[in-house]
Formats: sequence, C-alpha cells, structure tokens
Amino acid sequence: MDIDIVSVFPEYFDVLDLSLLGKAKSKGLISVHAHNLRDWTHDVHQSVDDTPVGGGAGMVMKPAVWAECLDELLGMHTESPDRPILIFPNPSAPLFTQQDATELSHAQHLVFGCGRYEGYDARIPAYYRERGVDVREYSIGDYVLNGGEVAVSVMLEAITRLLPGFMGNPDSIIEESYTGGNALLEHNQYTKPASWRGLDVPAVLLSGDHAKVDRFRRDEALKKTDRIRPDLIAQLDCHALSKADRKTLIELGWEVSGDHPRRIS
Ligand code: SAM
Repeated sequence: MDIDIVSVFPEYFDVLDLSLLGKAKSKGLISVHAHNLRDWTHDVHQSVDDTPVGGGAGMVMKPAVWAECLDELLGMHTESPDRPILIFPNPSAPLFTQQDATELSHAQHLVFGCGRYEGYDARIPAYYRERGVDVREYSIGDYVLNGGEVAVSVMLEAITRLLPGFMGNPDSIIEESYTGGNALLEHNQYTKPASWRGLDVPAVLLSGDHAKVDRFRRDEALKKTDRIRPDLIAQLDCHALSKADRKTLIELGWEVSGDHPRRIS
C-alpha cells in the first residue's frame, strides 16, 4: 500500500518508523511519504493560509496551494483510471470506524491531507469529488485537535494493522472490539500470575475447558458492551445470535425476538 501524507509538519510522521508500522515499512508492506505542503507555495513566506471570508477568528488553509500539491499526488494531469483515495481528517465529519479502517485496508494508494488552523477551504474536497476522486472526510472523535497529524496517525495505524502480513500473529485481529459482523467490545484480558496483589483471574479461565472459557468470554463481552456501548447491542442482528447469547441478553434486559435487540428494562 502506498501512503502519501501532506502536512505543514511532515517531521511529525518520523514516528512511523517505530514499532510494527516501522517493521511493515522495512518489509515493503507499506511505503509512506510525508510531504511538506509549503513545498508547493511560491511566495517568500511560503504561506498556506489566509483570513476567513465572511470574517471570524483564525486562518483557513488556502485552496490554491493544496490544489497544486494534490493535482500532483493524485495524478490529475494524467488519464489514470486508478486514482488514490483522498482522506481529510475533520472534526465536523462522520466518525472514522473499524468498518472504514477495514474498507480502506484494501486500497492500493491513500493520500491524507492534514488540516491546521481553522481547517481547510471547503472547496478543496468538493473540487476533487466533482472530478471523480473518492474523497473521504473523517472525524476521529468528538473533540478538537490542533491539526490533522494525530488524526492521520490514528487512522493509519487502524488501517495498516489489518494488512495481511502486518501482525506477527494474524489471529490477534480476528476477535477484537468493533470487529466482524456482530461487533461487540472485547472481553477483559488477563495474563499470569493467576493471583496478583490479592486479585485473582476468573477461575474458569484456568479450567482448561475451552467451551466454558469461550462462553465465559462471550458473556463478558456482551455484559461489557451492554454497560459501556448499549448502542452496539442495539445494532446486533438477532438472527445471527446463538441461543446462549440470546439468554444472556434477555438476562441483561433486552428483548431479542425482532431483527435487533430492544432494551425493555
Ligand atoms: N475549526 C474547526 C472546527 O471547529 O471544526 C477545527 C479545526 S482544527 C483546530 C484543525 C485541523 O485539525 C482540522 O482541519 C483537522 O484536520 C484536524 N482535526 C482536529 N480535530 C479533529 C478530529 N476530532 N478528528 C479529525 N481531525 C481533526
């Protein structure tokens, strides 16, 4: 997968050389290029922002400099049928989810544009959308950061860890939170020792009975999701739930006879 990132602080992405992402780069699974937006400016101050039209505080990123950069990175001067997907982090966009990460992990080429200041001129994504580019805008959460660099790092890590060959043990990404069709939060995890500072791991995990361990973990996941993210329970497909899942959900106060669980108590 080819990844281009445009930022006024490209050095921020030096950290991508660390950890598993760094290994994926050296294995050739991904190639990452961080570009400085200011390289596409022509004025002596290398300015990338201007005052907001209509007034107001702060500065807005100018469309012209972004367009010069993106025309080049997206290959707009060529007839290519396969353009990269263009992604802008934006706090006022739909939330980036595991489903988006999974879909984007199948892409060949991603171009990320990091906003700064009050954000970027809204005509930039509109312009490329109108020209047939697949443009995505995503928020990583309901809070405002200073710039898109952290948000891009978050999305990149979520996407690239799903690439075949990225994880040392591919099974580690199969049963995680938010993953799969009927997504739940993951059950609690424990390691050795079995007893630590007066706290014991649940006895069933030491039983060696795999069926019992699986059922315990599944119930833990259902209980935890019910407590923390009941919206995920309400999205489950009841027809894909086992008899034991339904029993647990009924005990937790859900009605499971329809297409999706409905809270009744
Ligand atoms: N004026 C904007 C607003 O109120 O929605 C905030 C702009 S923010 C200070 C500057 C840049 O940081 C944004 O253009 C975006 O690229 C990035 N950013 C900030 N918070 C973000 C979030 N929660 N998710 C994704 N990107 C974010």
